[in-house]
Order: sequence, then structure tokens, then C-alpha cells
Amino acid sequence: MAKIKERACKICKNVYEGVDRCPKCESKEFTESFKGKTYVVNSEKSVIAQNLNITSEGEFAIKTR
Ligand SMILES: [Zn+2]
Repeated sequence: MAKIKERACKICKNVYEGVDRCPKCESKEFTESFKGKTYVVNSEKSVIAQNLNITSEGEFAIKTR
């Protein structure tokens, strides 16, 4: 089985895999070299989400290049 690479959206930092564009913001600007992931459950209460300007729930990259 081929390993599916994870991608991080450069616009909203959403982490996704196997599709050509970000499922959240539909941007095609992604990077496969990102550092760290965080799972945001409640973006309004998450300090990390606020620091990263994340306004929805899901898996996000902490740092994209
Ligand atoms: Zn995105």
C-alpha cells in the first residue's frame, strides 16, 4: 500500500491527506513540510487555536514553511 502524505494548507493550516485542495478553504497552496500538529476541538477556548488564528475545529499544523 502506498503511504498517503499529509499536507498542511498554507492559508488556514488545516492538515489533510490525499486530495488536491484544502477541504476547509479550498486553497491549493499546501506544503508537505510542516512542523507539529494540534487537534483543535473548541477553537474559542483553545489558546493554541487563538495563537494560530484558527477558527474551526480539526487537525492543524503548528508551523508551515
Ligand atoms: Zn486551507
